[in-house]
Amino acid sequence: MIKKIDHIGIAVRSIEDSLKFYVDILQLPLLGIETVESEQVKVAFISAGETKLELLEPMSEKSPVAAFLERRGEGIHHVALGVDSIEERIKDMKEHGIKMIHEQPKPGAGGAQIAFMHPKSTGNVLVELCEKK
Ligand code: ZN
Repeated sequence: MIKKIDHIGIAVRSIEDSLKFYVDILQLPLLGIETVESEQVKVAFISAGETKLELLEPMSEKSPVAAFLERRGEGIHHVALGVDSIEERIKDMKEHGIKMIHEQPKPGAGGAQIAFMHPKSTGNVLVELCEKK
């Protein structure tokens, strides 16, 4: 079912500035930087052992991350659970009355299929399901 915490998403205003802390000071390896057009975000993955940190920088005002920064400022944005069969997990969550933001998996960073649960169903934690091939 749930394999592990795949990554923790952290909203930042600038990936470049944030890398000074995570890479230069904490000395965690930067795995790569990419853009996710559908979410209008630039994403940096940093390795922290079994789990990764995903820094999210909005590329435009239309990005959901821009709205998050506006409301809450920089900080932890979501927790991503690594799963095997995301379609089945989504179905399972819905059967348990969990509201999904994405009822169908969609392409996320790193070639993953992802779906977010609605924080109103999860005690205000934005939870992502994430399946990597
Ligand atoms: Zn994520």
